[in-house]
Amino acid sequence: MWVVTHVLTGSALAAALAAAPGGAWPWWAVLTAVLLLHLLLDLVPHWDYTETTRTALFGSLDFVASLAAFLAVWRLLGYPFASAFLGLASGAPDWDVLVALLRGPRARKLFPSHWDRFPHGRAGRPWGIGVQAALMAASVAVVLALRP
Ligand SMILES: [Zn+2]
Repeated sequence: MWVVTHVLTGSALAAALAAAPGGAWPWWAVLTAVLLLHLLLDLVPHWDYTETTRTALFGSLDFVASLAAFLAVWRLLGYPFASAFLGLASGAPDWDVLVALLRGPRARKLFPSHWDRFPHGRAGRPWGIGVQAALMAASVAVVLALRP
């Protein structure tokens, strides 16, 4: 799944856990939750650009969009840095994919949802992009609704 999808869904989850009825979750619990979310979302059938001929272009756009999402949550919407950073951390396991792409086809990936034996969700472009657009739209709605 695209990094920006993970960053926005992680930001929404971090915002929801900060506004939890019983009080804000500790940072380590939010970090665990956003990493688990990354793993679960990698199960959802989606379209990845890593198997195209334009991986560098799409990856660069994804990196810029992810950084912009983090900065928007932090600086424009006024979330505390730690909360916005935990959203960014939700996309961090995909550095694993980048490093493996640079190292070649025999490189081992570290994050469980990137292992070859993990049932990583795959779909064609219409569904695979649409599901990520829907997840991002829902996440933006949550982040906007819960902004401090
Ligand atoms: Zn991933």
